[in-house]
Amino acid sequence: MSRLPRGVLREALIDTAAITANVRHLRALVGVEVMAVVKADGYGHGAVRSAAAAVAGGAARLGVTDVAEALQLRRGGIDAPILAWLHAPGTSFAEAAAYGVELGVSSMDQLQHAAAVASADRPVDVHVKVETGLGRNGVAPADMGSVFAEAARLERIGRLRVVGLFSHVSNASPDDDRAALAQFERAQAAASAAGLRPRVRHLAATAAAIDLPETRLDCVRLGLGIYGLSPFDDRTSADLGLRPAMTLHAAVSAVRRVPAGHGVSYGYTYRTARETTLALVPVGYADGAPRQASGSGPVAIGGRRFPVAGRIAMDQLIVDVGDAAVAVGDEAVLFGDPTLGAPAVEEWADAASTINYEIVTRVGPRVPRREATA
Ligand SMILES: *Cc1c(COP(=O)(O)O)cnc(C)c1O
Repeated sequence: MSRLPRGVLREALIDTAAITANVRHLRALVGVEVMAVVKADGYGHGAVRSAAAAVAGGAARLGVTDVAEALQLRRGGIDAPILAWLHAPGTSFAEAAAYGVELGVSSMDQLQHAAAVASADRPVDVHVKVETGLGRNGVAPADMGSVFAEAARLERIGRLRVVGLFSHVSNASPDDDRAALAQFERAQAAASAAGLRPRVRHLAATAAAIDLPETRLDCVRLGLGIYGLSPFDDRTSADLGLRPAMTLHAAVSAVRRVPAGHGVSYGYTYRTARETTLALVPVGYADGAPRQASGSGPVAIGGRRFPVAGRIAMDQLIVDVGDAAVAVGDEAVLFGDPTLGAPAVEEWADAASTINYEIVTRVGPRVPRREATA
């Protein structure tokens, strides 16, 4: 834990060395190529720094949702292969291709649009996405024959290279994921019959990559795990050998001694039981402390933990620290690495009835991210 720089209300400390170590650890576990998923600003950690840290740990590829995210990585100096898989009608595939961004294509339209932007000497690299149960995008089983045939034709005339074939699993249950794998294998057979030989077949995200080895194929797309968080309810980061990379902390900005019966925050949903000290922590729901965790989200100050007292406001929350000697400027930690004494991201997720993914990705844009130095 550490103090904040002077003049900073709140910040997210990002331990890029942890991201590198997490990728290295997971890469060794899965034994196949890793595509590090850095969509949504690297799950809130910063896309470019997360991508660079993941590549340093052995990620061979990067995955993002859309082309704009891919271009942001290129502008940030990232030159590893990048795949973008969700496109608005009218997305500029030409710009994507010019920057060597690989396109996930989910329909005949997208396939033809990708081929249309190829230059005479440079085919466009695509990964065909197939639907295997999730009900999102991906070529439907009924359309696979025609889409694969067209992909093979476009490959033969030098417009496209079908680098990959992929899908995504539901994590509904191991059996559901195995059913998705079986569906994927049928798609692969159909692609093969059409003359396609995609080199990178990928299906698993973090959970399946860890728990269902048969879904690892040629490559796994790892998001949550590289940031050091666990996708499982019954296993912590430490259980998986991972280190959480983000610490959200703030400097206590006011301390007030109040009598018993004093109301706290909007609606006075909390009243002090006795004379006590209230500490104001300048992190609100605009900064990523979910209002739903009012009255329960954990905050560590001076090595002790206190639940949020009363409602979380847009910019701040209050903790009742009793008679603890808390002073203005003290560090208040909302979450970080629990092995170092910080509350876990998952405690905030539980307090807000959500998942760790949502807690880190919702840290607000006005919270500065600072790279932790060893
Ligand atoms: C977000 C995403 C991932 C990464 O999932 P994690 O559970 O964070 O590892 C992988 N693949 C696709 C298609 C995704 O949208």
